[in-house]
Amino acid sequence: MKPVIILVETQLDQNIGKVARAMLNFDLTDLRLVRPKTEHNNDTARRLSAGAERVLENARVFETLPSAAHDLTHLYATTARPRELIKDVYSPKEVATRLESIHTPRGERVGFVFGSERCGLENEDIALCKAIVSVPLSRDFSSLNLAQAVILLAYECFQASPAKAALQAYDEPPATLAEYEGFFEHLTGELEKAGYFREKNRKGVMTRTLHNMFSRMPFSSQEVRTLRGVVATLVNPQGIYSRPKKTRTPQS
Ligand code: SAH
Repeated sequence: MKPVIILVETQLDQNIGKVARAMLNFDLTDLRLVRPKTEHNNDTARRLSAGAERVLENARVFETLPSAAHDLTHLYATTARPRELIKDVYSPKEVATRLESIHTPRGERVGFVFGSERCGLENEDIALCKAIVSVPLSRDFSSLNLAQAVILLAYECFQASPAKAALQAYDEPPATLAEYEGFFEHLTGELEKAGYFREKNRKGVMTRTLHNMFSRMPFSSQEVRTLRGVVATLVNPQGIYSRPKKTRTPQS
């Protein structure tokens, strides 16, 4: 299991270089950058990558977290600070243990999302993730350098044994972030039309709450399709009241 590393709004090229180095130490090569505030493949980044230039060269840049993570099925937000969102919080070791059952041949892919040096991740981004990973540290001094946070997660995932992949509790592939987002847009679009977001100033918070609720559920692709069918049917009922009346055929 080789997690994808996603950096959101990273400010320093030197940190991107150090992240590339930390990744390649553990055979990780898929680096994705969301709205980076600096160049990611300049001289400084390349020098600090200490030989991991190919990670920088192959890094991809995205405008939004949903586009960067569209193909991932298990997305985790990393934070030093507790947040007011209802999300499970794991240590890197706990998350690595959970991920031992990831089934790569079935298309399951993990991503870890890291925030900017100054502000960390926005709650909107965390709300898209299944859970939070936080490295337990000194209560009074709990913020790591970005590349240090990456290396601690990469280390634990590298130690985790893939042998447990065979022990699947269910057979259906989990939904990708793009599938979750498709459902979510469908749902909020219909809620908008139905007047759910009447209080305009609360729309942001209500949307984030909904996002947060659905993203922490371990839905399969099929279950997400089922939910979309539920929304479509509620919007456009096909039930007994709208079914065309059957004309009786006279009994012979
Ligand atoms: N000043 C920011 C911290 C930024 S550190 C804040 O107060 O949130 C940059 C990034 O490194 C964070 O967004 C997070 O992704 C990661 N990070 C830092 N410390 C961490 C910790 N203890 N556990 C998990 N991730 C951490």
